[in-house]
Amino acid sequence: MTKGDPVLFDRVALIGVGLIGASLGLVMKREGLAGRVVGCARTQATLDKALELCIVDEATTDPAAAVIEADLVMLCTPVGAFAKTAATMAKRLKPGAIVSDVGSVKQAVIADLLPFLPKSVHLVPGHPIAGTEHSGPEAGSADLFKGRWCILTPLQETDAGAVKKLTTLWTRAGMEVEAMDAEHHDMVLAVTSHLPHLIAYTIVGTAFDLEETIMPEVFKFAAGGFRDFTRIAASDPVMWRDIFLKNGDAVLDLLACFTKDLDTIKRAIHRGDSKTLENLFMRTRKIRKGVLEAHQD
Ligand code: NAP
Repeated sequence: MTKGDPVLFDRVALIGVGLIGASLGLVMKREGLAGRVVGCARTQATLDKALELCIVDEATTDPAAAVIEADLVMLCTPVGAFAKTAATMAKRLKPGAIVSDVGSVKQAVIADLLPFLPKSVHLVPGHPIAGTEHSGPEAGSADLFKGRWCILTPLQETDAGAVKKLTTLWTRAGMEVEAMDAEHHDMVLAVTSHLPHLIAYTIVGTAFDLEETIMPEVFKFAAGGFRDFTRIAASDPVMWRDIFLKNGDAVLDLLACFTKDLDTIKRAIHRGDSKTLENLFMRTRKIRKGVLEAHQD
């Protein structure tokens, strides 16, 4: 499919028009992928902004109204809101519609959505791995997804045609698309994204609790590494609360390994064991090389 071809979807409902929903809306406009886009959020202020920025053509605060006649319903709210949205919109879904999402967790999302969805719709869970620490429609950018990965976690029974359409959508957003099992996705993302965010939130919280006398210097000399943690720890609090609660098992498993490794480092420092420290830092340097080679810097 190229520009000028018929639209991919006649009518799209974006449930949530923040950073990710707005960015996808802008991609669909730029690429001419949707006939009409309706946006849905809880507050009129969000919807007014989305209309003003021409991210959506119509807007409503009611998910049930938003999905009427939609060929694609894309859930772009924090994942903790998915079950309630699904319950509200289920009866209004058009037979044959595709229901997809951008949530950062996949097993819990599938478990939350499936019980509500009629058999006549196709569920294609997805996760575009692109983002910033900013939120809301103003943060949206049609270039957000360029050069990044999108993971789809279709179920065994998911219609191949629906998966193909979603693959086309994200490819046109500039992403490389890969399919995998939802459980595998959740473990991989726990390592690459969820644990790093948890560590950043902890470090910045620890610094915040330090004595007032040290805080001015913490801000002044933040470039020594702390600054990067503050950027990550500025990410949306509700979105991340939901991610940790919904991917709790994988995050806790990983946290157990992390705590064990931290104890090893603590013991090495305590004993003045330079070899252990140096060996670890040599190993981690190789990981950085792998990231650079995968063009994920
Ligand atoms: P965001 O900028 O905070 O936007 C969330 C949107 O959802 C807003 O339009 C908000 O508007 C609306 N919303 C919130 N709760 C709602 C509810 N209960 N019912 C209906 N609308 C609701 O968040 P985001 O960064 O776009 O993240 C959205 C999703 O993308 C999350 O599931 C997240 O896991 C996933 N994701 C995020 C990133 C990232 O880096 N940010 C990357 C990949 C995937 P109102 O407040 O007006 O309701």
